[in-house]
Amino acid sequence: MHFFPGITPEQWQDWRWQRANSLTSLEELQQRLALPADSLAGRQATQQRYPLLVTPYYLSLVESNDCQDPILRQCLPDPAELQDGPGEPDALAEERSSPVPRLVHRYPDRALFITGNYCAVHCRHCMRKRHWGLDMGSPSRSEIKAAAEYMRHQPGLREVLISGGDPLLLPETVLAEIIAEFSAVENIQILRFGSRLPVTLPQRLEPDFCRLLASGKPAWLATHFNHARELTPEAARAADNLLRAGIPVVNQTVLLKGINDTPEALSALLLGLLRLKIKPYYLFHGDPIAGTMHFRTGVEKGLELLDALRGRISGLALPAYAFDLPHGAGKIRLEPDVTLGKNSAGEVIYRNYAGLAVPYF
Ligand SMILES: *Cc1c(COP(=O)(O)O)cnc(C)c1O
Ligand code: SF4
Repeated sequence: MHFFPGITPEQWQDWRWQRANSLTSLEELQQRLALPADSLAGRQATQQRYPLLVTPYYLSLVESNDCQDPILRQCLPDPAELQDGPGEPDALAEERSSPVPRLVHRYPDRALFITGNYCAVHCRHCMRKRHWGLDMGSPSRSEIKAAAEYMRHQPGLREVLISGGDPLLLPETVLAEIIAEFSAVENIQILRFGSRLPVTLPQRLEPDFCRLLASGKPAWLATHFNHARELTPEAARAADNLLRAGIPVVNQTVLLKGINDTPEALSALLLGLLRLKIKPYYLFHGDPIAGTMHFRTGVEKGLELLDALRGRISGLALPAYAFDLPHGAGKIRLEPDVTLGKNSAGEVIYRNYAGLAVPYF
């Protein structure tokens, strides 16, 4: 649906126009989408706590004025965000494993650099929504140098994740500095950008900009598609520009109740990603973050979904099902259980994708 009449294609394709015209007002969103009059009830209070922000492009993927639309649910403030029961603002304790400002070093060979808290869209399920209200600002020159210096003294570090917020919204000069400083650390072999712009503001991934991202150590980009409807021609162009610049793209989906928690919705997303040459990397079980609990399913749900898809769609399309343990204990990957036990001959019996029990010598 196109809710922005009178806009020229040039304006629409211009990421600066998209940024400048992003919606922050519930009333404007209601008017543009012609949402039912009573649909804003209870949403204002949520908006005070967790502000609305959405690009015209992302909003244009909404197909109906039903508030259960899978795109709309990812950007429309929901009263349930305030009613959530248990759940912590920083369930992963990122703030506790930070040796220098903005750097989270949890695993032996990779560290995470948090560039700020600006995003193109405020995704309602965001695990870092505690940051939305703060003004973290862009990393300063001395913060970038301090992070690089720390990494230089940790020879076991091989990879740095550059994430946020959205690192690709930084001014190009700052981004160029981060890429240059981190690439100058001898032991750093890989830069991994984490960005949702291919989904929320794909216009930003212009060829020149992709070449900037590729200007340092070998770069990968992890993005965050959650629904097949996000796989648009614009997203395909962004993925193609990245790939042509030499940057492989992988995807991290969050399992979201009512959005992608059926075998049909999930396989449409995963197979669509392959067509865009994006490798499904993780399917994340939602973290117990305050303000997002209503999106969570049980862990069994994710296992059930993977079990339904394994063997039936390309192995390339299957992500690892993972979640973060509390208190910064790190990520865990889970697999559907396929062992049924042993037979009298002592052979292990496996359950194949079609449910057949097969002994294996
Ligand atoms: C998820 C995460 C990583 C990256 O883990 P991978 O399994 O390599 O994707 C690194 N550091 C932190 C703090 C993380 O949360
Ligand atoms: S783009 Fe990522 S960090 Fe930003 S609001 Fe969405 S989920 Fe959160």
